[in-house]
Amino acid sequence: MNLAVPEIKEECGVTGIFAPGEEAGRLAFFSLFALQHRGQESAGIAVADGSKITVHKDMGLVTQVFTEDVLSKLGGGIAIGHTRYSTTGSSILRNVQPIECTRKNNECFALAHNGDLVNAAEVRAEMEAEGVEFETTNDTEVIAKIIANSSAETIEEAITEAMQRIKGAYAVVILTKDKLIAIRDAFGIRPLCIGKINGEHYIVASETCALNVIGASFTRAVEPGEMIVIDESGVKEIQAIPMERHALCIFEFIYFARPDSMMYGRTLHEARRRMGHELAREHPVPNAHIVFPIPDTGTPAAIGFAEASRIPYAEGVIKNRYIHRTFIQPNQRMRDLGVRMKLTPLKESLAGRRVVMVEDSIVRGTTTGQTVKMIRDAGAVEVHVRIAAPPYKWPCFYGIDTASQNELIAAKLSVEEIRDYIGADSLGYLSIQGLTRAIGVKKENFCRACLDGKYPIPIPDAAKLQKFIFEDKKSGDKAKKDI
Ligand code: SF4
Repeated sequence: MNLAVPEIKEECGVTGIFAPGEEAGRLAFFSLFALQHRGQESAGIAVADGSKITVHKDMGLVTQVFTEDVLSKLGGGIAIGHTRYSTTGSSILRNVQPIECTRKNNECFALAHNGDLVNAAEVRAEMEAEGVEFETTNDTEVIAKIIANSSAETIEEAITEAMQRIKGAYAVVILTKDKLIAIRDAFGIRPLCIGKINGEHYIVASETCALNVIGASFTRAVEPGEMIVIDESGVKEIQAIPMERHALCIFEFIYFARPDSMMYGRTLHEARRRMGHELAREHPVPNAHIVFPIPDTGTPAAIGFAEASRIPYAEGVIKNRYIHRTFIQPNQRMRDLGVRMKLTPLKESLAGRRVVMVEDSIVRGTTTGQTVKMIRDAGAVEVHVRIAAPPYKWPCFYGIDTASQNELIAAKLSVEEIRDYIGADSLGYLSIQGLTRAIGVKKENFCRACLDGKYPIPIPDAAKLQKFIFEDKKSGDKAKKDI
């Protein structure tokens, strides 16, 4: 258990700016800063000024990597940015994105990726057999090396070749010295949208919050299988590979995306509030005194639960916002401090009360169990736990870092057994029907594999055994995730 970071972690956020004549690097910084929640281990920006590409990247938060001194030198008219939490490829500087590559015709490009490829190991092995050398342990380099080694005339054709060869989830931004290119996988599993800056320049980003922060207006989502090419001549919209279907990750709605972001035309905050309404209908707690969230992601659902059940909403715990992986290396002493590192109970809200605690998910159950105990220790007489999502039973292979399946408590125990394990008086999960009703989008438009085991993109056995193994020849470093 690592209490310094959430139990389910998004892997990356990406952004791309096309703004000749403006400080594109600085705009990329602002939009990347808005995507900080999608990855906190490293950050990077690549800028192009029409003749060359420059990359600055390092381990740390966006504001740690990009000091004013660095920002003032970034410049550029086109930029891409990336913020990362790693699972495919270990957390070392060599794996930090954007990564740079050169095509056979000496055309330089930089590339940043959100998602996970399910056939990266296979493609990499094929390419290594052809003599292609890899420098990093991440699957992003597989995409870059296909493009770099393609004999296609144009980079757009080379990228199309890559899209035809790779399988999995990807939202990718690519920078050449004079173009910004964005692509999305055939199922649109990871989010990617386009916006306009001042009506004349462009931004692409994982979430609309990255548009809002620089005053850009949302245009539309990049479609599954689509390639967007932006250069001085304008925007080209190319259906590079056939769209399979829309299968956006449903956890973007439940948990990952920022509440002020919009997906499928609705704000996440509103959808999460309605999840609280549905949860209150499905699992009411008639005699409770207060409803409180585990902040921040449980907050809109707790507000919704309180509204629908007419039980007062209160703050039951205060979150320490500064607990962070970058600051706290997970070691035994920190783990022993437990959930109190992250949450402090508000005794005046809890003492002598029957309380409803709303959370977005239970992964291993240990954190929830510790939280319930803390709430009881603070004087609550009954603790009723309500989860604004269905039970999380299957691992993710598409860019989310989850526990291995044998650690997922809902894969092993019934709801009643989980209730007993976490020490709650009652436990209720939102149903998939309630969840999609709250979002207002048909369940067929989502990937929901970690909830129902139906993976939209088949997972090869190799990926199932070990999510990804690349041995880094330089360091012997193995990037591996067992499931
Ligand atoms: Fe999202 Fe779950 Fe699908 Fe992974 S398996 S993309 S977390 S819905």
